[in-house]
Amino acid sequence: MVERKPVFVDWCPGCGDFGILRAEEMAIRELGIDPKSVVIVSGIGCSGKIPHFMNLPISGVHTLHGRSIAFATGIKLSNPSLEVIVNVGDGDGLGIGMGHFVHLGRRNIDIAVLVHNNGVYGLTKGQASPTLHRGEKTKSLPKPNIMDAVNPLAVALAAGYTFVARGYAYDVMHLKELIKKAILHKGSALIDILQPCPTYNDINTKEWYDKRVYKLDNVPGWDPVVRKEEEAQKKFEQAIMKSYEWGEKIPIGIFYQNELVPTFEDRLTSNIPNYREYYPAKQQIEINGISTTKIDELIKAKRI
Ligand code: SF4
Repeated sequence: MVERKPVFVDWCPGCGDFGILRAEEMAIRELGIDPKSVVIVSGIGCSGKIPHFMNLPISGVHTLHGRSIAFATGIKLSNPSLEVIVNVGDGDGLGIGMGHFVHLGRRNIDIAVLVHNNGVYGLTKGQASPTLHRGEKTKSLPKPNIMDAVNPLAVALAAGYTFVARGYAYDVMHLKELIKKAILHKGSALIDILQPCPTYNDINTKEWYDKRVYKLDNVPGWDPVVRKEEEAQKKFEQAIMKSYEWGEKIPIGIFYQNELVPTFEDRLTSNIPNYREYYPAKQQIEINGISTTKIDELIKAKRI
């Protein structure tokens, strides 16, 4: 086994990423999952460093800007026995990576996506990201932002994600429970995590969020789980409406959960009946040194 060397966690003091790291580690430990079966895939940005900082022997893949969901899709479909978690920033996952973000939802692959949502591109000095609201002027912007914000929850719901939630990086215990539920959920899961960036976002600060954030669990009658097909439309509409509550009050918790939709792995199994037992990671890729894709050479060598 390769010895892990201590890694200096170089996020800025007070960064919300620390809360996400701690919540994610605790969630994996408390679920009792073998860390060796966990793959954390990240992109580019401050959030991208999370696999390096995990104090668990997980596998981490630090990929390209906007492409972490594409990598995660390949990993999960090659080996569906792995727990695959994607950590992306809002700029990374909802800007350049938005195409992959949408298509994960329509496939409903059993992957959990955690968006570190801080409204800025922190690693490159605080430019406006797709989740910064119009009219807001953070300290790096010469003028207020002139673009409207993406609503990650509404996009995820419209794309087909079957678990949609919002967490808050400074409420680590609540976030940990959400991450556990997202990992256990069968299908594509999104947690949009409010992650203050104290260095570049001087609007959506800890003090700003602390006054506004409230838990959906404490709302009488709130029930986001679809248990029968007939409930799906009503609960979907309820989640969409709630996802637009922003300003004086900001809800966190589960907005929508529906495990009645078949996962992509289920759909593949209907086409390839032995997919779950004989998935690509288990298949032979060469016979006596000859790639199984080189049929002519295998015939010539009398290997098939
Ligand atoms: Fe965190 Fe912002 Fe610093 Fe990046 S720039 S590490 S998001 S505080």
